[in-house]
Amino acid sequence: MKKLSLFRRPFFAKRIIEIGGGHDPFAGVTHAVDKFPEDNTQRAGDMVRVKGVEFKEGDLEAIPFPDEPKFDFLYASHVLEHTHNPQKAISEINRVASRGYLETPSPLREQIICSFPFENIIDFHTLFCWTAGEANQIHVIRKSEKTVGIFCACENGKVAKILFDLRRKKNLDVEAPMPGRSKTTHLYFNGPITLMEYENFESACQKGFCGYGEVGFIRKRLIAPFYLLSGRARKLKSFLNAV
Ligand SMILES: [Zn+2]
Repeated sequence: MKKLSLFRRPFFAKRIIEIGGGHDPFAGVTHAVDKFPEDNTQRAGDMVRVKGVEFKEGDLEAIPFPDEPKFDFLYASHVLEHTHNPQKAISEINRVASRGYLETPSPLREQIICSFPFENIIDFHTLFCWTAGEANQIHVIRKSEKTVGIFCACENGKVAKILFDLRRKKNLDVEAPMPGRSKTTHLYFNGPITLMEYENFESACQKGFCGYGEVGFIRKRLIAPFYLLSGRARKLKSFLNAV
């Protein structure tokens, strides 16, 4: 079972809920909610039911627990990007818990792995989601033909587009050498979460919330001699240099 890093773990929490733990739940939860207990279409294996954990069928947009007593901690890992009404999902999280951990694929990884050209029917990730360093804020853009494969014009967006094109047009596996940290985004919230939704990546970037912050991390890595000792970093750099 999954665990957060030691100093992030909710040691003194008594009521801990996980939404959409599915086949790979977090350790130590007391309550679990899943939308499709019997259907594995949207996950990588059979749902794990842990003995002693109170289970209810439901989802992030309708958490089947009352407002009180509030949960001390909430986990939702790789769930928000599946929701159709992110505003409702965030208001549900805020209703039942004031502290927790959200994880989603980074927009960079989502762009690289999702169906392209965009097809609504086969793609069950509905959103690009990210955090941009501020506490308790999550940023989303709906996936559509107007956003999939379309990037902001800043330096991060340019590198993201190059990686996307290398994967889509040259069929290079750019995902393997990407640092793990660039593939997901994490929000450790403590207090009500604010959701910010944008039309597209350019409008988010213009407002100061670039969706490709993880690319900034990759760019820093690729000029740091220490990191270039790693084979993965050298491989990624050789991909980018070849453009
Ligand atoms: Zn940008």
